[in-house]
Amino acid sequence: MNKAYEQLQTYLERAQAFQTARVLFEWDNETLAPRAAGPNTSRVVGTLSGEYFSVITDPEVKKLVKECEKEDLTETEKAIVRELAEEIDKLEKVPAKEYREFSELTSESARIWADARKKKDFDSFAPTLKKLIEYTKKFASYRAGEGQKLYDVLLDDYEKGFDMETLDRFFGTLKEQLVPFLKKLTDSGVKVDDSFLTGDYSERDQEAIGRFLAEYVGFDFDKGVMAVSAHPFTTNLHNKDVRITTSYNNHVDDSLFSVIHESGHAIYEMGIPDDLTQTLVGTGASMGMHESQSRFFENIIGRNRAFWVPVYGRLQKQFPAQLKEVSLDQFVKAVNKVEPSLIRTQADELTYSLHVLIRYEIEKMLIEEDLDVEELPRIWADKYEEYLGVRPKDVAEGVLQDIHWSQGSFGYFPSYALGSAFGAQLYAYMKKEMDFEGLLEKGDMGRIREFLRENIHRYGKLKTSRQMLKDVTGEDFDPQYYIDYLTDKYGKLYGI
Ligand code: ZN
Repeated sequence: MNKAYEQLQTYLERAQAFQTARVLFEWDNETLAPRAAGPNTSRVVGTLSGEYFSVITDPEVKKLVKECEKEDLTETEKAIVRELAEEIDKLEKVPAKEYREFSELTSESARIWADARKKKDFDSFAPTLKKLIEYTKKFASYRAGEGQKLYDVLLDDYEKGFDMETLDRFFGTLKEQLVPFLKKLTDSGVKVDDSFLTGDYSERDQEAIGRFLAEYVGFDFDKGVMAVSAHPFTTNLHNKDVRITTSYNNHVDDSLFSVIHESGHAIYEMGIPDDLTQTLVGTGASMGMHESQSRFFENIIGRNRAFWVPVYGRLQKQFPAQLKEVSLDQFVKAVNKVEPSLIRTQADELTYSLHVLIRYEIEKMLIEEDLDVEELPRIWADKYEEYLGVRPKDVAEGVLQDIHWSQGSFGYFPSYALGSAFGAQLYAYMKKEMDFEGLLEKGDMGRIREFLRENIHRYGKLKTSRQMLKDVTGEDFDPQYYIDYLTDKYGKLYGI
């Protein structure tokens, strides 16, 4: 009998319960909770997080983890113990006092950032940012292996097995091939009319079509709910309770594609098997793999002409006044309109990864080259001008637009672009295995979804994203698939 592992289970179940309660409060806070609840709920959430950490860092847990090494465990059990050991190790290497100071800083810094953004005043955030970077570097240095670069430590937190060497190659390829392709596309002078996507689209109708589309792509409303929040997101409690949100405005495509995107995240979590859910390996493999699934649903499926062949009529029926006269081809062109812009979260599929490229280059300079934060607004603007041909007129639409750095998250951004690239590599492989577009045209989502479940979702965190990609496609990560996918798709759409 595996005594140590069984004892460990009791601790893990407690930790899981605290975690689940915290996540549920956070969801509630963003969706249903009254506005005034915030500060009080924050205290509850703080206590729940504290309880979670005290279970995980209990000396008894550490002892049991050690004893587990001697026991005869299944592969899943081994993976759970490995995850736990890593988490303990990560927490232990940073002195408690410094960690507390850092937590205090981050509880303040998001507010300072929000104020600075509102006032369009970078200088009022710069000293805080400087401190955040100092802590981040110091913590990374405690955790760095022999000869390991600090930014590599951070990158590894979000995407195991992807270091600067791999990412330099990835982003280098993007820069070399996508920047000139984008230039060619914008120089072509092709105009796409998407004016009909903006207008008097009622919330009720948007919600009705949103629910239809979520279910159509495979979101199971017996295991999930959909609500409204300021920014769309997905939360999962376990594989039978996965929650998505969306928001509504007068651009109908925003809610249509955010619902499909979040459904992609949710379908991933709903596809985690029962024996993994509610364990440390019972969630998506990584940030990048999660984005690969959401973007796969949103872009590779959702912005594909074939996808709309069976359902465009349904959309027209929901919005006869706005779309009756708009043909399927006009609609597909409009939802794939390319427009170099300043804001990452509003970027189209083609230019999106260039926004991430800029952040990657800047983070590398901040962590590895001691770039002075005072220089940030200028460097940010120069890079936007160079790669996208647009220049922010202030810091709100420039360097202060994203919340990540204010939360002390450095090394997070690359996962967004990697996710799209994973998706493109999977797509290239799947097209050899099945008549992908033919299935979409027939309205048969099942085969595609089943493939993803069978090859990605069901493994949870048992494998790294890179290993999974290799096992599915038979090849290591290769950014060329992503470039080829984009240049092929947009080359055809724009006739260049
Ligand atoms: Zn996402």
